[in-house]
Amino acid sequence: MSEEIEQLKQTLSKPNKIAVIIHRNPDGDAMGAGLALKEYLSKKGHQVELISPNEVPDYLRWLPDAEKTLVFDRDRKTVKQKISEADLLFTLDFNDFSRTGSQMEELLEKYIDKPYVMIDHHLEPKAYAKYKFSDPTKSSTSEMIYEFIVNLGGKQMIDKHMATNLYTGIMTDTGSFKFPNTTANTHLIVADLMKTGIDTNKIQIRIYDSFDSDKLHLLGLALNKLIFMPKYKTAYIVLSKEELNRFNYRKGDTEGFVNYGLALEDSNFAALFSENDDEGVRISFRSKGKFPANEFAKKYFNGGGHLNAAGGRTKQSLNDAVQLFLDKLPEFKDKLLNANE
Ligand code: 5GP
Ligand code: MN
Repeated sequence: MSEEIEQLKQTLSKPNKIAVIIHRNPDGDAMGAGLALKEYLSKKGHQVELISPNEVPDYLRWLPDAEKTLVFDRDRKTVKQKISEADLLFTLDFNDFSRTGSQMEELLEKYIDKPYVMIDHHLEPKAYAKYKFSDPTKSSTSEMIYEFIVNLGGKQMIDKHMATNLYTGIMTDTGSFKFPNTTANTHLIVADLMKTGIDTNKIQIRIYDSFDSDKLHLLGLALNKLIFMPKYKTAYIVLSKEELNRFNYRKGDTEGFVNYGLALEDSNFAALFSENDDEGVRISFRSKGKFPANEFAKKYFNGGGHLNAAGGRTKQSLNDAVQLFLDKLPEFKDKLLNANE
């Protein structure tokens, strides 16, 4: 077992005050990993809080214990207090404080001398963590949390609640076990989680088949607006604030929409532009094969992520953001056309 795990085991052998922090706009993986780790550490006798920079999206609120999540945007005072009191801070599913938003980033920087534990599967981790578990070959942070708990000797403590949370995290980050990040190990872990008796069909339904009609109609509009450019094997969708509002948009409602751009046989790159909130224009990118969606997101849209799934944002207008995207495609033309070789 690695020295890091041994050291951490020592630290965790007595009760600690622990803050578990996830990224802004938490997805299924961030929430699943955070909730499962929180439950494990609580069972071990620690005082644990799960902290999200902003609200948990509607489609994840049913996760076991999700309602107890502390939200920085809503309750700054409590979050500041919990972070200042913490003996140990876990950061999950991100590896750069900026992924928590500028004000939360400031708060995390303020306590940089405290021991941070990073558990994450993104590329290029920053150097803030005393204990760094960073592995971009893993499907999800939830997969890593499962292994982390097993390495600490806690396998028997994984109950139905924890398994539901971890399964949701792995399922959402692998697109239900179809993205290239899905490994044999992923399936073995999922098999283990299923042995706790979780209802995987119900989880699938809650995540993928629980749209309300506004969301489905918004998807209809998005699909109608999809533009495919065979020359660049690229598809994109643009949703303005007015269009989102027409369907009573709530955060999380466009989750998954970008993937439809890849459903086209000849498309290797898909983008979704949404003019939706405090962040200006948010862009989601997805790719097939070896086209580096993260490189594109990082170079032009202040973002990053994984090879096949990335995101970014810009303060430019919606039109300018789309124009920038179109202007930069020629630079990537070879990679776009040869992604599957
Ligand atoms: P999504 O399109 O689902 O919002 O994001 C897909 C993936 O891209 C996320 O899992 C995350 O890894 C990454 N990502 C999204 N937004 C950002 C961003 O602003 N910065 C970075 N570095 N990564 C992002
Ligand atoms: Mn993840």
